[in-house]
Amino acid sequence: MEISNKFKGISPSPTLMIDSKFKQMKADGMDVVGFGAGEPDFDTPQHIKDAAIAAINAGVTKYTPASGTLELKKAICDKFKRDNGLSYEPANIVVSNGAKHSLINAFGAILNPGDEVIIPAPFWVSYPEMVKYNDGVPVILYTKEENGFKFSAEEFKNTITPKTRALVLTSPSNPTGMVYTKEELKAIADVAVENNIYVISDEIYEYLVYDGVEHVSIASFNDKIKDLTIIINGVSKTFAMTGWRIGYTASNADIAKAMSNVQSHTTSNPNSIAQAAAVAALNGPLDDFNMMKKAFDERRKYMAERINAIDGVSCLMPQGAFYVMMNISALKGKTISGKLIESADDFAEVFLDKQLVAVVPGNGFAAPDYVRWSYATSLENIKEGIDRLEKLLSE
Ligand code: PMP
Ligand code: GLU
Repeated sequence: MEISNKFKGISPSPTLMIDSKFKQMKADGMDVVGFGAGEPDFDTPQHIKDAAIAAINAGVTKYTPASGTLELKKAICDKFKRDNGLSYEPANIVVSNGAKHSLINAFGAILNPGDEVIIPAPFWVSYPEMVKYNDGVPVILYTKEENGFKFSAEEFKNTITPKTRALVLTSPSNPTGMVYTKEELKAIADVAVENNIYVISDEIYEYLVYDGVEHVSIASFNDKIKDLTIIINGVSKTFAMTGWRIGYTASNADIAKAMSNVQSHTTSNPNSIAQAAAVAALNGPLDDFNMMKKAFDERRKYMAERINAIDGVSCLMPQGAFYVMMNISALKGKTISGKLIESADDFAEVFLDKQLVAVVPGNGFAAPDYVRWSYATSLENIKEGIDRLEKLLSE
């Protein structure tokens, strides 16, 4: 039996692969420390769980409109007004099964076969595969660590061809932790408007910004860029709700309608109980989130400072999300525990085999000189992981 060419061309998610390998090793009783998947280690706040339980007891257990309940869409519109100064109506909102689902819907809504999508690297692993899944062509725009892993409006402009349909923008960034300033975003928005290019703006880490850095939505500058932007967001990261699977988009109403039509034939509505929980998350207090953010911030500083104190590796201080990109280029050509290090894959493999520490090699992010650590894990684990890194490199 032959698998279709399209599906054969899609590779598995390396972040989820590392995570399941780590979880299996742990279940097998191995003393493994995991920095793989970016998943808050905190439990979902109690008031959100209570809302879900109340929804079950109230019989909120039936189909809802395919693109989400009106109540949740209103809570999302309120969030955009409050946090981003953006006015949307429920007709602009589509609720899906996680932000991943929102993204694949968004690419599907705007791409025709052969359309190019500019994806700045290092990128989150799923974007190129999602573009390919929707018959588009990923065009990688490489950024440099010395530029804070950011691309300029000029570089964006120079990457545009007659086939360019969209730009992917992730700020705060997974995997680099970098956040674009308002000025940088305005310049990027101007280029997008001049060239009539959609912006898929993944803002799932918007609340996770540190050191007084401000998150700005690119859609907020004027109506033209707002019309071209599809904002991707969700409750997974902010409210420690990865397993609940609620993501959402804000876009112009035509795009929202097209995505909603497809969703009505594919998944139907996202889980009704999870939608009720998401209403409580978006309308509720942020005390639990603030506690989580404080912990992430402390771990971020600890991790980055310790990495930069070790010979042979280094990292930038991330400004957002919960990842550190560690530069391993100085280790290339060296032999560690009997293994010649030629790329991040080799390093991640020897780190896992010899020290039982799981990190994500940068190859999947188009960053072969880096490995990604997630600091969405306890300070104790972080200390242990970095101690083991020291041990590995001293051998
Ligand atoms: N975008 C980015 C940048 C992410 O890191 C993630 C994490 N999985 C997602 C989207 C998808 O989130 P969700 O769990 O809501 O599908
Ligand atoms: N986004 C997270 C990560 O990058 C979760 C895993 C995934 O969805 O790919 O690790």
